[in-house]
Amino acid sequence: MPKKVCSFCGRAEKDVNFIITGLNGFICDQCAQQAYQIVVEAGLGPDGGKRKRGGKFDVELADVPKPTEIKEYLDQYIIGQDEAKKFLSVAVYNHYKRLSQPDDESGVEIEKSNIIMVGSTGTGKTLLARTIAKLLKVPFTIVDATVFTEAGYVGEDVESILSRLLQVADYDLPAAERGIVFIDEIDKIARKADNPSITRDVSGEGVQQGLLKLLEGTIVNVPPKGGRKHPDQDYIHVDTRNILFICGGAFDGIERKIAQRLNAHTVGFNSVQNARSIDKSDLMKYILPQDLKSFGLIPEIIGRLPVLTYLNPLDREALRRILIEPKNSIIKQYKKLFEMDGIQLNFTDDALDFIVDKAVEYKLGARGLRSIVESIVMDAMFEQPSKKVDKFDVTLDYAKQQLEKSHLK
Ligand code: ADP
Repeated sequence: MPKKVCSFCGRAEKDVNFIITGLNGFICDQCAQQAYQIVVEAGLGPDGGKRKRGGKFDVELADVPKPTEIKEYLDQYIIGQDEAKKFLSVAVYNHYKRLSQPDDESGVEIEKSNIIMVGSTGTGKTLLARTIAKLLKVPFTIVDATVFTEAGYVGEDVESILSRLLQVADYDLPAAERGIVFIDEIDKIARKADNPSITRDVSGEGVQQGLLKLLEGTIVNVPPKGGRKHPDQDYIHVDTRNILFICGGAFDGIERKIAQRLNAHTVGFNSVQNARSIDKSDLMKYILPQDLKSFGLIPEIIGRLPVLTYLNPLDREALRRILIEPKNSIIKQYKKLFEMDGIQLNFTDDALDFIVDKAVEYKLGARGLRSIVESIVMDAMFEQPSKKVDKFDVTLDYAKQQLEKSHLK
């Protein structure tokens, strides 16, 4: 039996607390501790083997909610729009799968499927994106396509999208390169098809070309801290291959393009039958990529947004549900405001119906609901906290009278 001497530091058993015996050597308690420290610093956690970087953006597929769970979560906040919720849940889940795909020999590499959501304003596109962001552990940012202009013009370059993503990722580059970007109002950069003017289409096709590069996956030089480009600035090289892009747009008037296409197809043998089976009140559900092309998106962009989904216009029933049902519904928010003063706020059923009627009348979709409710309870919010009451009822008459007084009427 050889004398026990630590094979790492050479100290004898009497000089340390204890020595662990290995197959062909020894290690003292202090060296073992140091070795453990090195292991931790290398990013390997106490559960050994599995690489854990410990950052707030690290994801393990096992921890990711399944598509049905993602949808259930969305259901708590968003009324209806089942189709869009389903598409989005799957896309986000697949995004995680792609990020954790093993490097095997099969040669199969899962590519990303960027998404485009079409639906009129105030139907919940941004809400969907925001809600899903809360659930995700990847950097997420929302950008508005209307601010983009072609490089060199007043406005923002499309690269600024990546500066934002870097910001939300606390400049953790690998995290940003796995992030999700929601591009709102994508329809606003459509080529003006019926305007073949010789003046440059600064915010149209040029921007689409710029965006295309990001969607395709490329290395983009991003000025650090979002500053303006400057010759001697060190750029951050961002690889966009694994960034998931979700685009949303109202595409006002696209129903006409859809109808035109459907009509063109209903000539001939089965025409009468087909024409009858088309639901004219909801043309959006027939949307196809070629309709986006007719609207003025370039085919290359459409090709890079393979998942196309739509949001339904909100009808009266949906608006009423939006008012009261979501976890964060408008009525619940106002009730909470009053509750903080110890006042129980109530809306009668006919008052709620009245609010919905007005929202329909103003044609603002769900966006109108909040401003209507706000106008109705404004006086109460002003007066009630200084009164000694524990209850306040908004009746139909009160609602009518308050709205009559407000600027909204
Ligand atoms: P879009 O992006 O489609 O123009 P938003 O998502 O910004 O519309 O919707 C505006 C507001 O309307 C949201 O903040 C939300 O309060 C409400 N809203 C719209 N659609 C829904 C919905 N389907 N369910 C619940 N609330 C909705």
